[in-house]
Amino acid sequence: MAKDTVTLDGIRLQITDPALGAGGQGKAQKAVLAGDPGTELVIKTFPVTPEATSRTEALVDQNLPGKSLFLSGPIAMEVGSNHIWHVAPFIEGVDLENDQPRSFPEQLEMAHHFMCQVATLEENGLAHGDIAPSNVMVTPEGFVALIDVDNAVIDDPGVPSPTMAGQRMMLAPEIRNGNQPPTIESDRFAIAVMLNMILLSRHPADQWATPPSALDQAMSTGNWPERNRVVETGETPIEALGTRLCSLFDQAFSLDPNARPVADEWRRAQLDALQNCWIHKCGHAFVGGESASSCPWCGDAVTIKNTSDTLLIIIPAIQGRFRTPLRHGETIRLGRANLAGLPGTVSSRHLEISRQGDRLFLRHTGSNPTLIERQGQWWKLDTHWVETDDIAATPMTLRLADTDITLSAG
Ligand SMILES: [Zn+2]
Repeated sequence: MAKDTVTLDGIRLQITDPALGAGGQGKAQKAVLAGDPGTELVIKTFPVTPEATSRTEALVDQNLPGKSLFLSGPIAMEVGSNHIWHVAPFIEGVDLENDQPRSFPEQLEMAHHFMCQVATLEENGLAHGDIAPSNVMVTPEGFVALIDVDNAVIDDPGVPSPTMAGQRMMLAPEIRNGNQPPTIESDRFAIAVMLNMILLSRHPADQWATPPSALDQAMSTGNWPERNRVVETGETPIEALGTRLCSLFDQAFSLDPNARPVADEWRRAQLDALQNCWIHKCGHAFVGGESASSCPWCGDAVTIKNTSDTLLIIIPAIQGRFRTPLRHGETIRLGRANLAGLPGTVSSRHLEISRQGDRLFLRHTGSNPTLIERQGQWWKLDTHWVETDDIAATPMTLRLADTDITLSAG
């Protein structure tokens, strides 16, 4: 049976899923470009009003998908007597709540990628206006995209304000009790709530979230609710985020909308956090500066000061870059158990690295082989000694099953 074909704003589209979803802002259908089934798009339909027309025109003018592949906004529109239709790129992935479990270093990557999208909006005078888990899409690789920008705050006096405040669990105190539209500043509050969910896998007030009045109260104190949390077994302690991110969270929950960090501050702090992500021998990762004195997960004393005692692990396949201190007699274990995102071919504990004086001892412990590169050839590695000075001078390339990693020191 021939599928429905429609023409919108001169673009011929073939509907592939007539009921992609229906939200508070109209219904959505999935389509492909007629004649180019590889280009997937979303058609949204909503009632025509002068305000909606003007806002949609402003969004089409912005051409957000032209600014980032991970920002889905309308690229074409048509206004009928009863409806507005607009067309936006379809974003692959699942929403944040349906994403797979992620390791802490992956969550840091995701938070950084999310803030890159938010920063692009801010640089163009926009705020999303409805930051919520259902509007944050995650690809299997951990890239983060923002969809559903129809409620965006647009810094242009000629464009009407958005109509919805947003979702209650995300709302800034100043718009929580009324029907005021979101602002760029209230969006910065919602962004901190979302970062809490990405980095710590929980809503900041989920210990106080029921009934709704308790949620309102917990979110309106001017303080980051996580500061009062009793961390349960298996939960990420906030100290794992490092002092700089924690201080941005403190500012973001302020009752003074102007005190909340701008997107670029978050983005830079997250990049810094990624470059200072340490894996402790207990298997957990944390962001550590020179002031870190203990592992936030297991409480063991750590000293982070001498970079010559630092092992740097780079895993291009998962965009991973980790540093770990290595002291005499200590062993770290690399594998899927502490580096999520690695393929299933890599064992949960694939390779052990321990320091004995000035040398590192590597021992293969995985099911599939570990290989070591020597002068352009791969050799099977079972056990191997290397001087730390040697890998400081020349990084060592290994292959855990089918995944390449590079080790260097300093
Ligand atoms: Zn630890």
